[in-house]
Amino acid sequence: MDALLFNVAQLMKSPVGTSFVTDFQEDEEVVLDDDLKVVGPLAGHARMRRTNQGLLVDGWVDLTLELSCMRCLKNFEQPMHVTFEEQFYPTVDVLTGLPAPAFDEDEIFPIDDHHQVDLTEAVRQTVLIALPMVTVCQEDCKGLCSQCGKDLNQGPCDCQPETDVRWSALGQLLQNGLQP
Ligand SMILES: [Zn+2]
Ligand SMILES: [Zn+2]
Repeated sequence: MDALLFNVAQLMKSPVGTSFVTDFQEDEEVVLDDDLKVVGPLAGHARMRRTNQGLLVDGWVDLTLELSCMRCLKNFEQPMHVTFEEQFYPTVDVLTGLPAPAFDEDEIFPIDDHHQVDLTEAVRQTVLIALPMVTVCQEDCKGLCSQCGKDLNQGPCDCQPETDVRWSALGQLLQNGLQP
C-alpha cells in the first residue's frame, strides 16, 4: 500500500525536533489483514517528529470496515476513526549507510533500509484494538430465530417460544425453596 509508505531520509538527517506533516489517501482496495476488510477509501493525517533515536509518528486514519453482525450474520459497514502514536527506529544509519544498532523493544517499528516508514502495520494494530468487542449491524438488531432461522429484523416468525422442561422444573423447585 504505497499511500502509507513515506521516505524519511531527509527528516532523519534533520535536527531533533524537526517535524514533517502529511495527509494521505488510498482509493485502491486496502488489505490490512485477512480478517479486516476495508471498503472504500482510507484517508488520514500523520505527523513525524525527529527524536534522538528515530521518529515519533502520530496521526489519525478514517476508514470503513466491512464486518459481520454477530446476531443476524449479515455484513455491514462500520466507519471508524482511529488515532495512533508510534516510535520508528532506523535499521540503517542515514548518514553512513551502516546498519544501525539493533533495538529489541516490541513497541517499536523499523524504518527500513531504504529509509522508508510504512504505517500499514501501525494502522492495522490500531484498528484491531479499536474494533468493538460486539459487532452488531444496529444496536437493537433482533438477530435470527433460534428455531427457524428467520431474520427477526424483517418481522416475527410463527415459532412458539421454546420452553425447556428442565428449567421449568428447576424454577418450581426454586420457588418452593423460597417460600417461608
Ligand atoms: Zn444484525
Ligand atoms: Zn422462528
